[in-house]
Amino acid sequence: MYPNSVNFYFKASEIAFLTKHKKELIVAPILEPFLGTKIKAVSTYDTDLLGTFTREIKRVDTQLETARLKAQIAIEQSGLKYGIGSEGSFDLDPYMSIIPWNIEMLVFIDDIKKYEIIGMAEGPAKILNFTTNSFIELKEKALQIGFPEQHVILRAESENNDFIIKNITTFNELYRAYRKCVKKSSNGMVFIENDLRAYACPSRQEIIKLAAINLLMKMHSFCPSCNTPGFWVSDVEKGLPCEYCKLPTDVIKEQVYTCQKCGFKKLTERPDLKYAEQMYCNYCNP
Ligand SMILES: [Zn+2]
Ligand SMILES: [Zn+2]
Repeated sequence: MYPNSVNFYFKASEIAFLTKHKKELIVAPILEPFLGTKIKAVSTYDTDLLGTFTREIKRVDTQLETARLKAQIAIEQSGLKYGIGSEGSFDLDPYMSIIPWNIEMLVFIDDIKKYEIIGMAEGPAKILNFTTNSFIELKEKALQIGFPEQHVILRAESENNDFIIKNITTFNELYRAYRKCVKKSSNGMVFIENDLRAYACPSRQEIIKLAAINLLMKMHSFCPSCNTPGFWVSDVEKGLPCEYCKLPTDVIKEQVYTCQKCGFKKLTERPDLKYAEQMYCNYCNP
């Protein structure tokens, strides 16, 4: 029974989802009811081998390639025809390059019909990288990023020290870990950072949720020509006419939907504006 699904394409199917850090708990409640599908978590493969946030293993592929590879591994390990892989990344915001920024990707692959659908979302993140010899200061920093809901990781001395303590989720554990790191540190300093694994990072969970919604919308949009799901905005066309002289401006006029299976394109005029304001016109306002 899938009382909320009107999707016959995926109804009663199973999708393998490769995840080591419990991301299925975020993604399944969004995809399952509306697609009428079952998400099967695949944890037989150690995704940390493809890269970790704590620098033990550096991620070499791009974020999209890594997510795609994980979807393929999910299909191989499960024997199912559908697979999802996910990958997060942290950088600075694309606007001013000052705020820590989190991008989450979910790649769905249909291994039989050979197409993929990419769900994506992004937003601000809280990043902590701090070295101190004061527990009070360490605790303050942890609180600022939302500890204990946001888990933290400590290292002795500096960010590249091998003595590392993960899975710190209570104030008692934080204090004990701090004492242990001080003992292993030659100068009494302790390094603290936030644990960015999905189950340990509430802000990431929110972005992954949005990426799952984005994927859901795309999986429910079908190509008018070949009926493949994933028919979505791939580009925009500029040229909305100026309100005064009617010449084309650089303001967006249409969105282009493209089927990545058959290449069918559909242009959709923006419903909110018919003309661009004169201030955006290169002729009236050069
Ligand atoms: Zn098509
Ligand atoms: Zn004009």
